[in-house]
Parts: sequence; structure tokens; C-alpha cells
Amino acid sequence: MEKKEQLYEGKAKKVFATDDGALCIVSYKDDATAFNGEKKGTIVGKGVVNNRMTNMLMQMLEKEGVPTHFVKELSDRDTVVKRVQIVPLEVIVRNVSAGSFAKRYGVPEGIVFDEPTIEFSYKNDDLGDPLLNTYHALALKLATKAEIELIEQYSFRVNAFLKAYFLKLGVKLIDFKLEFGKLPDGTIVLADEISPDTCRFWDVNTNEKLDKDRFRRDMGGVEDAYREIFKRVTEGK
Ligand code: UDP
Repeated sequence: MEKKEQLYEGKAKKVFATDDGALCIVSYKDDATAFNGEKKGTIVGKGVVNNRMTNMLMQMLEKEGVPTHFVKELSDRDTVVKRVQIVPLEVIVRNVSAGSFAKRYGVPEGIVFDEPTIEFSYKNDDLGDPLLNTYHALALKLATKAEIELIEQYSFRVNAFLKAYFLKLGVKLIDFKLEFGKLPDGTIVLADEISPDTCRFWDVNTNEKLDKDRFRRDMGGVEDAYREIFKRVTEGK
């Protein structure tokens, strides 16, 4: 399968059309951004890690009953996926306080929750992805009630699986962001990526950060962190 015209270029990926109207090819870049594009940089090798890790996790999640857009890995950076209409909601699931949650509610990072939380942001760069609740999402017709309920169900299932999976690799899954898409027949599938760009991973013993926070916070060792989490996933599966 070959790349045809470029349909879209995002911050971390390009999307290409293919001969098959139902499929496209995503191509993962090393470009990194944070704070809604204000901070820019390169994380060498990130595209390979994010592509391969996303594909491994999506295939595992399919087996857990979460339908995904994954079709076939073509190379280190390129993957065939089903063409979907992205639901303009960013779904964030949290097990431990960190990032914007800690800031918004004035609590330290690292508080372990009794139950995971879920929240939605309106996927809109011009507005800075504002937080919204399901009533707002319904008012804006971003999705139907049934779609939102299914997205919540899938998101908690993803969390339950990934949390246990990463713990076996010596990694605490702190929080993550998911995006869902709609197939032409209306089926909701997990789309986008599951990677150190979109998850917070802390080493279980040292709490060392193995994710994009090292880039966001200028902590150094960014490439090493991506290599380390990828090594655990590929060797520990
Ligand atoms: N996240 C993401 N994209 C975004 C915002 C958040 O992938 O546009 C991920 C982020 O990597 C983290 C989780 O979602 O794993 C929760 O992020 P948070 O709301 O704490 O925002 P941040 O502190 O990253 O701005």
C-alpha cells in the first residue's frame, strides 16, 4: 500500500490518502510540541517509538474488546489505519494526580485516586482545547449521548487493561489522553495514538518520568526516557 496525497499534517503525524478510500496511512514524525504548540522541538527517534508502541497496544486492546482504527504496520514510522471522522473530544483518564489536574485543583502531583477519573476537552486548537462536560458536548453536538457513553466505557476498559499491563513492566500509568473516530457506518473506534506523548508513565520504584513531561519541563534525558519505555514494552510483552 502506497501513500497518495497528504490529507493532513498535525503536530506529531502526517496523514496520507491511499488507493483505498476507506484507509489512510499515518506517518509519525520526531517533531514535539507542548503547551498548544508554544514550545517546539525534536525528540530523535520518537516517531518510531510512538508508531510501534501505539500499534502493539492497539492490537492488545482489540483483544480486550475495544475496536480500534489499526490495520497494518508498514514500517518503523508508517501505519495503515481505517479512515475515520475524529470525534472532536479529547478524553483524559487519570489514576494519579498530575499536570493540569494538580494545577487546576491546587493539589500535589502523585495523589493516588481510589477510582480513575475521566474528563473531556473540546478538541479545538484555536480555543486551547477547553475542558467541557458531557452536557456541553451534547449541546455543541460533538457526539450523541450513546456515543459519549460508549466512549466512556471504552476509555475505562483501556485504562483497566493498560494500568495492569504497565504495572507488570514496572511502570505506573498516571494518566493519558485518547481520541475516538467514527467509521462511515457510525461505529466508534479508538484512534490517534497511545504513546509517551499522550500518557504519563512513572517508574514504579523511582517515580522517574518516562514520558513527554521530560520535554515539557526541560528535564533532559528525553530520548532516553522514550527508549526506556519502548524497551520495556517490546521486551516485556
Ligand atoms: N495529553 C495529551 N494531549 C493534550 C493534553 C493532554 O496527550 O493535548 C495527555 C498528557 O500527556 C497526559 C494526560 O493527557 O498524559 C493529562 O494531561 P493534563 O490534562 O494533565 O495536561 P498537561 O499537564 O499535559 O497540559
